[in-house]
Amino acid sequence: MSVATLPEIMDPAFRERYGVAAFNAVDDITMDGLIKAAEQARSPLIIQISVKTVKFWGAEVIKDMFMNMAGRVSVPVTLHLDHCPDPEVAKSCLKVGWKSVLFDGSALNYGENLKITREIVQFAKQYGASVEGEVVPVRGVEDGVGSDSVSDLLPVQMELDFIRDTGIYCLAPAIGTAHGFYKAAPVILYDRMQYLVETTKMPMVVHGGTGLTDEVFKRLISLGAAKLNISTALKKTFADGFSNYLAAHPTEYDPLKLIGAVRNDVVKMVLPIFKLFGSEGRA
Ligand SMILES: [Zn+2]
Repeated sequence: MSVATLPEIMDPAFRERYGVAAFNAVDDITMDGLIKAAEQARSPLIIQISVKTVKFWGAEVIKDMFMNMAGRVSVPVTLHLDHCPDPEVAKSCLKVGWKSVLFDGSALNYGENLKITREIVQFAKQYGASVEGEVVPVRGVEDGVGSDSVSDLLPVQMELDFIRDTGIYCLAPAIGTAHGFYKAAPVILYDRMQYLVETTKMPMVVHGGTGLTDEVFKRLISLGAAKLNISTALKKTFADGFSNYLAAHPTEYDPLKLIGAVRNDVVKMVLPIFKLFGSEGRA
C-alpha cells in the first residue's frame, strides 16, 4: 500500500533537501498519468486537487479513485486539497479520508485566518491529517502582477506567529512566486525563505512553480522547500494533448487512443521534474 500522509512524504524530503512535486490532477487521466510517472521514476508524489475539481467530481469519488490508483503502486503518494478558502469544503474532504488540506485564509484578516486555520488543524488531527497554511496570498499573474512587491508583504514575524499559534504542518510563504504564467521574471525572496526555515525548522511549500527556472527551483529546495506546486504546466499539457492528437487524427474516433496519448503526454511532462527536484529514485 503506497497511500502516504503528507509528513511521510515531506519530512524525508525536507531532511535530505530534495523537493516533491505537487501536481494538480483534474480527472482520472491526469491522476493515472502522474502516478504512473512517479512509479516509473521511483519518486514520491503529491497529487493535489483544486476546490473547483472537488465540486466537479465530489470529494468521495476523487478519494476512492485516488485510493484505488495509488494503492496499486509501491511509491508513496498522497492526496492534498489545494487552496481551500471554505472551512466546510476542507472538513468535508477530511471527513471522507483525505489526509491533507491547504486551508487558505489569506483573503481574511489575520485574526480570522488564525482562528479558522487553528480550528481546521484541530479537526484534521482527529483524522490523522495535516494542514498547510497561508498568511499572505500567493498572487495570480492574471492580476497583472508578476510577483509580490516587497512593500506589500506582511512582516515575516506574522508568518512566524501564525505557524506557532495554528499548529500547521507546513507553510506556503510569500516569497515572490505567483500563480499562472509569469510575464516577467519574479523576484524571489530567498532570504525570507531561509529565515523562515532556520527559525521554524518547518518544510516550506512553493506555489506558482510553472515557469520558474531550474536554478530557482534548486536554490529554493536547498533552502528547505519540500513541496513545489505545479498546476498551470499540467493544465497546458492536458489541453494541448487533446488538441495535438485530434489535429493529427481528425477522423479516428478512438477515445482510448486519444486519452492514452494525453496520459502519455502527462507522463512525459512530469518525469524531468522528478529528476530536477531530486526526488527521482528516492522511493
Ligand atoms: Zn497555490
